[in-house]
Amino acid sequence: MECYRVKVSDGAGIEECVQTRYVFNCTYSGLNQIEGDFPKIKTGLKHEITEMALVELPDTLRGIGVTVMDGPFFSFMPFPARNLHTLSHVRYTPHANWGDIKGINPYAALSQYSRTTRVDRMIRDVGRYMPLFFSAKYVDSLFEVKTILVKNEGDDGRPILFEAHAEMLGCYSILGGKIDNIYDVYEKLDGEDFIPIIN
Ligand SMILES: Cc1cc2nc3c(=O)[nH]c(=O)nc-3n(C[C@H](O)[C@H](O)[C@H](O)COP(=O)(O)OP(=O)(O)OC[C@H]3O[C@@H](n4cnc5c(N)ncnc54)[C@H](O)[C@@H]3O)c2cc1C
Repeated sequence: MECYRVKVSDGAGIEECVQTRYVFNCTYSGLNQIEGDFPKIKTGLKHEITEMALVELPDTLRGIGVTVMDGPFFSFMPFPARNLHTLSHVRYTPHANWGDIKGINPYAALSQYSRTTRVDRMIRDVGRYMPLFFSAKYVDSLFEVKTILVKNEGDDGRPILFEAHAEMLGCYSILGGKIDNIYDVYEKLDGEDFIPIIN
């Protein structure tokens, strides 16, 4: 059984070299940005820079979330951490997208992005269905990079990506398309043979 030497960093300058039999690459948008011999994944990825606006809503809509599905619609939900609502829109939330390329780190692309809000367009569209929304007050925006599988770019399917790298036994790349994919990870791991490490 192979043993790998992995250099890990806390991102603030502290680095450590560890020896391990198994490597799980769970770096979401950064799956193909791991340096060294770690293999590229075979599944095609697409990255999107996304904007969730944070708005203050009139009292009547406080504590209420609405999602209109199956089309170029919108969703707003309470965001208790800021005592506001998040607002996203199928058409205006994705600002930019590109196919995954090794060497173009999506997190670096996000940090360099200009971040001009599209909240005015979101509010105008929601207001067509719920006129009360015209009195929403814009407060802030959360910009994030979202990564999806190319095969699901035309639908809302967000399956787990689980690749066991045949060329480097014991190395895995995993991406959760949705938070609840955590349950699929357990199922996938149950299908693998792991040799326990005995000290
Ligand atoms: C805008 C947006 C809205 C979403 N809405 C929903 C929703 O409503 N419902 C839902 O179920 N899911 C939603 N998702 C998807 C959900 O967030 C992801 O499916 C889930 O977080 C993926 O889990 P993960 O463990 O694969 O990756 P993450 O939770 O992203 O964890 C990856 C971690 O790896 C770290 N990392 C990256 N590169 C490196 C590196 N080189 N070295 C060390 N660490 C690294 C990152 O900092 C991060 O902490 C949304 C995602 C976005 C972007």
